[in-house]
Formats: sequence, structure tokens, C-alpha cells
Amino acid sequence: MTAKIARFLEDTQPPTPCLVVDLDVVEESYRTLRTVLPLARIFYAVKANPAAPILDRLNGLGSSFDTASRGEIEMCLRAGATPDRISFGNTIKKERDIAFAYEAGVRLFAFDSAAELAKIAAAAPGAKVFCRILVECEGAEWPLSKKFGCSPEMAVELLSAARDLGLDPYGVSFHVGSQQTNLGQWDSAVGRAAAMFSVLAERDIALKMVNLGGGFPAHYRQGVEPIERYADVVMTAITTHFGNDLPEIIIEPGRSMVGDAGVIQSEVVLISTKEIGDEKRWVYLDVGKFGGLAETMDEAIKYKLRTPHDGQVGGPIVLAGPTCDSADILYEKTEYEMPFALKIGDKVEILSTGAYTSTYSAVCFNGFEPLRTYCI
Ligand SMILES: *Cc1c(COP(=O)(O)O)cnc(C)c1O
Repeated sequence: MTAKIARFLEDTQPPTPCLVVDLDVVEESYRTLRTVLPLARIFYAVKANPAAPILDRLNGLGSSFDTASRGEIEMCLRAGATPDRISFGNTIKKERDIAFAYEAGVRLFAFDSAAELAKIAAAAPGAKVFCRILVECEGAEWPLSKKFGCSPEMAVELLSAARDLGLDPYGVSFHVGSQQTNLGQWDSAVGRAAAMFSVLAERDIALKMVNLGGGFPAHYRQGVEPIERYADVVMTAITTHFGNDLPEIIIEPGRSMVGDAGVIQSEVVLISTKEIGDEKRWVYLDVGKFGGLAETMDEAIKYKLRTPHDGQVGGPIVLAGPTCDSADILYEKTEYEMPFALKIGDKVEILSTGAYTSTYSAVCFNGFEPLRTYCI
């Protein structure tokens, strides 16, 4: 929690739950990435947090944007992003949305199948296309599994077909899984991409770009390597597999750009036990899985928590949200403790919640408002 966020919460006492995002931290994350990966072009993954002040700030810094829908493209254009700084990176798009993007001037499109390629050829003639390949997501706290990408062998055929369809076969992309803690994953993924460059060069297709996706970390309960280490591993992988003939490099950070910039403030609604004398307390907050904390699904993302009594003696808890759905339990298997002094009405802060929260929050489940965001 930054001093700026603490002061805002103190001065304005906003109704809870709410998310407060410190835009200076977003800016710092952007600048740090530029510094540690100077050769990479940064396309902010808009889905992580599309709040207009975030897009405005990043646009002002010269960032590019990775978008997944017509809506996200419109948000970026509204923030002032020029279409040459927007990539339509979703591999699953309606043809009319591709046409919309093309009309707006967007020229960079992702695909991972023949049918999607056909849509792009029809609606965005001559556009640059990159093919997403499947890679290992092991080590990612939020894996993106097998939903996106195709095998490199198939990708080679599709990129060849792209040329025949009048498109510009531009490059290869992958995503090693979000909050990736196994730094070895980048080397094997870059290796696969580089092999495709060689195979396609034999067919007179000169790919130009490698899109390394996201996977860079925010700071949750489990420690992570510093961002400099990530940058090191990425650049070593590139130079190992491409030698002196470096391709254009794109990265699409979402979580690492905004995660640590945000804090959710919530209020304790109830503290109870299930048996007389139970040691384990149930602590119910006014925010839960349906209020924006969807990434606690399977207890995957383990946020750091703050209470007004930190440092005092405490015991184990189950942490849950306020809605009438039994899925709305945040942590039951994962060991969390809270001080015994914790009481109903206390404020609890959930740290590093700037990414993948506000837009995941339900519209009105059980009559609860969607998560309010304050960008400061
Ligand atoms: C979600 C997503 C990202 C962002 O990933 P993070 O791990 O949050 O940085 C980047 N690229 C694509 C294509 C994505 O779908």
C-alpha cells in the first residue's frame, strides 16, 4: 500500500468495498519494464484493468495496447491511442469486429486457427498477422491452459497459408501463463518460436516479430523473483535462440503493470464459528469472489491481507465473501491467520488487487454493486 493510497483512504473514507489504484505505481511499472527490457515494445494487456485513467496514463507514456474485443479497442482509441499502437490479440473474434478494427486503422491481428485466419483475410485484407502457439504453462499461478494457441507445426502451415491469403505473416506469439513463477518457461517457448522462423525462412517467409505475451508477476503472498531477473531470462532466451538476428520483440504485460498499483479496502461483516469453541473463525468480508476476487478460484491467487491489528496474536481463519453462494469462499484450504482482536466493522485491505478484479466483479449479484474503482 502506497502512502498516497493510505492518505486517500484516510481522507475520503470511501464506502467499502472499493478498489484504489495509484496511477504513479502503474507509471513506475511501465518505466521499469522499459528500462529492463529496452528492446521490447510494450502492449499493455487492457483486460487486466481497463479503467480510463490507467489507459490515459499509459497512452501518455507512449504505451501500446493489447486488446481482446471491440469494446477494448474503443476504450484505447478514446484514451488517444493511435491504431498503430493497438493489437487485436484475441484469437477468438467475430468477423464484424475484425472489420471494425480494420476500419479504425488497426493492422495487427492474432490467430491460432485456419478459420480465424480466413475471417481476418476477409475483413482485414493485407493486415499483419501473428500465430499463437501452445506452450507449457507449468509454474503459472493462473495458467492459460490449452484454450489458446496451436502446435508449432500447425502454426507454420497457417503462416504459410496467411501469405497465400494476401496477409502479412508477421510473427509468432505465446503466453507462458499468468503469474509465471518458473522462469525456465520463456527459454523453451522462445526456442519454439525461433525454430518456426527457420522453417518458414526456407519457404521464403521472413517472420519479423516474437510476441512474448505476459506472465510477469505481481506481488502476492508467495515471493517472486525481481522483474530484472525476468528481463534477464527473456533476453538471454532471445539471444540464445536468435543470435545476432534479433526479431522485433513485443511483450503484453497486464498483471505486472497494474496488480501492485491497487488495494481493495473491505469491511468485516461477520466473525463466527461453526461449533461452540471452534478454534477456526470464519471471517466474512463485504467483498468476495463475486465482488471482484474471482482469481481466488481454486485459491489460485493468494493475496496479502492487512488488518488494523497486524502484529498481534492471532489464529487460523476461513475467509469468505458476503453473497449467498457457497462458492463465495476465498480461502479455506490455504492457511490464513488473523489477529484475535479483529472485530466486526474493522477495515481489511487486500493488497496487489489492481489486476483482474474490477471487471470481474458481478453487476448486481445479491444486490451488491460492482466494485467501485478510484484511480488517484
Ligand atoms: C491476459 C493476456 C495477457 C496478460 O497476461 P499477464 O500475465 O496478466 O501479464 C497478455 N497477452 C494475452 C494474449 C493475454 O490474453
